Amino acid sequence: MEQNKAKSLYIHVPFCQHICEYCDFVRVGYHLDLSDRFLERCEQDLSYHQGETFETIYIGGGTPSALSLDQLKRLLNILKPFIGNECEMTMEANPENFDEEKIKACVSFGVNRISLGVQSVQPKLLNLIGRKHTMTDVENVILLLRKHGIDNISTDGMYGLPTQTLNDFKETLTWMISQQLPHLSLYALTIEPNSAFGRKHIKSVDNTLEGEFYQLACDLLQKAGYQHYEISNFCLPSKESRHNLTYWHYEDFVAIGPGASGKENHRRYTVTKNLHRYLSEANPFDEQIILSKEDEMFEFVMMGLRLQSGIERKRFLNRFDVDIETVYATAIEKNIKKGWLYFSDTHCKASEEGRLFLHDVLIDFM
Ligand code: SF4
Repeated sequence: MEQNKAKSLYIHVPFCQHICEYCDFVRVGYHLDLSDRFLERCEQDLSYHQGETFETIYIGGGTPSALSLDQLKRLLNILKPFIGNECEMTMEANPENFDEEKIKACVSFGVNRISLGVQSVQPKLLNLIGRKHTMTDVENVILLLRKHGIDNISTDGMYGLPTQTLNDFKETLTWMISQQLPHLSLYALTIEPNSAFGRKHIKSVDNTLEGEFYQLACDLLQKAGYQHYEISNFCLPSKESRHNLTYWHYEDFVAIGPGASGKENHRRYTVTKNLHRYLSEANPFDEQIILSKEDEMFEFVMMGLRLQSGIERKRFLNRFDVDIETVYATAIEKNIKKGWLYFSDTHCKASEEGRLFLHDVLIDFM
């Protein structure tokens, strides 16, 4: 099979100053010595990519802004040689630990997009889920980002939180719209067994209410001029996350850091979630899978149907030397009949309803 060159790089910084009640991500409490060792390890991992540059770099976590100013500068300095021309360089930040000095460091090292964890505008809900910021912190950070030239700001919002009403969520969405934030990612709360909520046996909201939250977001944001370009993501025109489009277009991407998953040259891998193993072993993978052509065709469809624009048939043909219709004729016909799929000379895409039932659509493609 053809060798791909990864265009994107993901770095997972696993440190957080506080642990949120719902969190099941790979993260640990911030620790100076461990975070120094983590940075050393990142540098070592990146040395295998010497000479490569990336079109998108995403520093996620955890909370990258939980690093000290010196550590943040060190991380950004390590990444410097890997920044390609017109690179979209995103960093996740939490409002309570992202001050002007850190923002200035980001700007000077080429970060041009910030993903800010907001979640909700109601103090009672922020408190309930264990977030430590206030809306004053959020608004100050947005002002500082704009002052220093970063307009490309994404925020995360959550729905289906315990006691959250539709009106609470509407207030959060209205605030996001009023800030003219170019990109919004909205997620339903899922209760993971290993989170504090899971251990307290908090229950998720029922599917009907979850659907009402989702529909409210779709309606309000579309009226405000946002494009619902991916199931959980909305943006103002041309403000899609280029990094995440790499995933949805099923391109290769390099992943570094504990728990990070990457895909390079027909191999999918997940780095160990155990920070101590990550820091001490030469090849600390939890999983490595060599992908067959069939695996890749299915995953290409699985990712592509998440997008409103769907799958471009030409891209599928170029990638696999076969037309998508030839491989998946039965699944395509069945889902067109259900009203869950549209199929044209150029595209194969899920309808609004099809995207809601994507899991069922994909079963037919397996
Ligand atoms: S939700 Fe984000 S900020 Fe909160 S503990 Fe998890 S990784 Fe850290």
